[in-house]
Amino acid sequence: MIEKVPALAKLCKELQRVPYLASKNLYRVVTHFLTDSPERLQALCQTIIATREAIVACPECCVWKEKERPCVFCGDSKRDHAVVCVVETWQELIAIEKTEGYRGLYHVLGGAICPLEGIGADDLSINHLIARVTQHPEITEIILATNQTPEGEATAAFIARKLKDAALKVSCLARGIPVGSHLEMMDKLTVYKALSERRPF
Ligand SMILES: [Zn+2]
Repeated sequence: MIEKVPALAKLCKELQRVPYLASKNLYRVVTHFLTDSPERLQALCQTIIATREAIVACPECCVWKEKERPCVFCGDSKRDHAVVCVVETWQELIAIEKTEGYRGLYHVLGGAICPLEGIGADDLSINHLIARVTQHPEITEIILATNQTPEGEATAAFIARKLKDAALKVSCLARGIPVGSHLEMMDKLTVYKALSERRPF
């Protein structure tokens, strides 16, 4: 049916390019856009474009930051600069921050090693992490908080191998997080427990 209404088909096609919108909610989102006020739609589009222009990855930890401002983690002297928690993406960082139980720094990898999808170690910020650890002797512990999926575990093992000669404590999340699960889907308490009861890798 949609193909017979080309303008509608075009919007659907654009939205299908957005991961997570290309689900059963797609038509609800389309309906929302078609019924929302033109002013609000304009404001939404402008906000997306302005945000895209204002935000960059921190050159140190790869967490999103405002171009003109210091990173909220690296630039905060109250945080513990001796501990770096390595996560796959920003979403997992949010899950950890929500626990309010972690005061160290982060390193966002940009995903996990996944040969089936053609994602190798060089596509992630792993070499950058190794260089960061070398350049910052104040870092004494690395927490590998990748997801408990085959890709996340393989990525953690790869990083642990790369760090084995560094004088560092390398730890990973406590068992208890269900296998195959993503941190961002976990409740706050489970993430907090996994982090506070971390074990040597
Ligand atoms: Zn940073």
